[in-house]
Amino acid sequence: MSEEVKNTEKGGISVEIEHIFPIIKKWLYSEKEIFLREIVSNACDAVTKLKRLTSLGEAQIEDEPKYRITVTLNKAARTLTVSDNGIGMTEDEVRRYICQIALSGALEFIEKYEGGDKTDGQADGIIGHFGLGFYSAFMVSGTVDVITRSYRSGSAVKWVCSEAGEYEITTDYYREERGTDVVMHITEEESEFLEELRIRTILDKYCSFMPVEIYLNVEGEETAAESEGTDKAETSPVNDISPLWQKNPSDCTDEEYDKFYHKVFSDFREPLFHIHLNADYPLNFKGILYFPRLAHEYDSLEGQVKLYYNQVFVADNIKEVIPEFLLMLKGVLDCPELPLNVSRSYLQNSGYVAKISAHIVKKVADKLTSMFNLERDSYEGLWQDIKTFVEYGCMRDRKFYDRVKSAIVYATTDGKYITLDEYLEKAKEKHENTVYYAADTTAQAQYISMFAAEGIEVVVLDKMIDTQFINVVEQDREGVKFVRIDADVAGALKAEGVALHSEKLEEIFKEVSKNTELKVKTELLKNEKIPAVLNISEDTRRMEDMMKMYRMSGKDMGGMKFPTEMTLVLNGSSSLIKRLSDMAETDTDKAKKLSKQLYTLALLSQRQLDADELQDFLADSFDMLENL
Ligand code: ADP
Repeated sequence: MSEEVKNTEKGGISVEIEHIFPIIKKWLYSEKEIFLREIVSNACDAVTKLKRLTSLGEAQIEDEPKYRITVTLNKAARTLTVSDNGIGMTEDEVRRYICQIALSGALEFIEKYEGGDKTDGQADGIIGHFGLGFYSAFMVSGTVDVITRSYRSGSAVKWVCSEAGEYEITTDYYREERGTDVVMHITEEESEFLEELRIRTILDKYCSFMPVEIYLNVEGEETAAESEGTDKAETSPVNDISPLWQKNPSDCTDEEYDKFYHKVFSDFREPLFHIHLNADYPLNFKGILYFPRLAHEYDSLEGQVKLYYNQVFVADNIKEVIPEFLLMLKGVLDCPELPLNVSRSYLQNSGYVAKISAHIVKKVADKLTSMFNLERDSYEGLWQDIKTFVEYGCMRDRKFYDRVKSAIVYATTDGKYITLDEYLEKAKEKHENTVYYAADTTAQAQYISMFAAEGIEVVVLDKMIDTQFINVVEQDREGVKFVRIDADVAGALKAEGVALHSEKLEEIFKEVSKNTELKVKTELLKNEKIPAVLNISEDTRRMEDMMKMYRMSGKDMGGMKFPTEMTLVLNGSSSLIKRLSDMAETDTDKAKKLSKQLYTLALLSQRQLDADELQDFLADSFDMLENL
């Protein structure tokens, strides 16, 4: 070490070090603004270290001072200064921490990556390991001055380092109190960092929750405030030193959670609910996740989870930490175990990150089940807002499904919510293991009323994702089948007895439908008012739905086509069908006309008519009215 000290005393910057500064400027961070985070977080560390030493009784300071960091912007002097009243450095420490360790880190960095074709992303990940944070000041500065006075020393040290890497140390310098000033002389090119708004925005982004009060001070500029005789120096800090996530959940109120959400995400809407994460050993991370209220189905599902490292902002939207299906969440995560300068590739491959992610999934599932168990009414009130993401989560992550399945509810056509087990329990006698559902309560109203008349509950599955989700449930619950109400005539809708059927009439229906695949059969339905219903087999319909989805997502299915299996069920209890059966024998022409009209009506209660069908139907109807 003494040899190295001798080197620095001579002020000799070795040949290699001359290469450092251009490389730092170019490669240190993809975003230059990060330099301010680095310098301010060093100042924070300096205060935290001093606090720790005082609490351990290892440092004695007169009276408990008000710890603070001041960021001073002086446009006229072209300086940006970060001052703290923390631990400070002795001359020896300046040589060791600023000149040697950091520079050797820089050298190591260069040796490893010089000449390499490195992407910004990779460089981001590297810096943290080399302890180069301080040197990021050179990304925006020509000269950097460090004036520092250790808590153990009566005088200060001034270190001035030029852009070229040459430095000068002056000892016995004057600084009123202990602490450090880092004075960055901003270069012409980086003048944007002399703008108050720019600096304020950066502080807001990276330093909002740092644990030491930060004040922004604007000097060297005649401001409106000054001309009115008021000092521009801020009286309130730009940051909140004890963010909500650091508190014990039992000490936080709902109002505080909402307020924090509004402030951090500038979203005026109330979040649906929140989860306060407080993981101890071995994971050790804290955070708050919010479920945002989505205005409608197509509202942006893009959430925002901010990652912090000991209250220092690291990154937004860290897709690697939050499982994909939870990306619509908003929130904050503070992970002191992750390096401050963490790269995407590090996150992707870190086992620790995978554990955090799994923990989050578990907490989200626990929250849902506990809301379901303890406050079911309000949970049901939220269901429409969270349903899509819960279903999507179940499809993406089997473990999540297993954890939340008991808390999944289904809306019924009469506006209630019911779990699968509750539904099956009620269905036991009339339609064991079959769940009837409607996909469109308007178009399928006729079917719904038939089911309602027999007291069969129908659930509403009207979103695209629902059809896929029920596949997951069916796989899990062997024997349980979801059947759309227009797929099949439920046993409970049928009347006792044997239906007399007219083969001739059935043939007529096949003919007038112009559908060669149409099956026609006659059953006795309890509801005599409905002459005929059309059924489409559940399996083929699901297949068709899937095809539709593929087509919508732009996938070419190569002309694959599935015939729609349709069955027309004639109601043997209906007087109209009875009449038609007779007519089929006596007046075939009239029977055909009526059958065609009846078929189209059945079709109409199942789906919309296409243009040709509609024209045909109208023409027939007018004709019929004419001859009435
Ligand atoms: P790191 O913070 O990762 O150790 P840096 O290059 O940012 O790396 O800083 C190098 C060292 O310089 C720090 O570890 C610390 O000992 C010292 N240092 C930097 N800024 C300050 C400061 N404001 N007060 C006291 N010491 C500081």
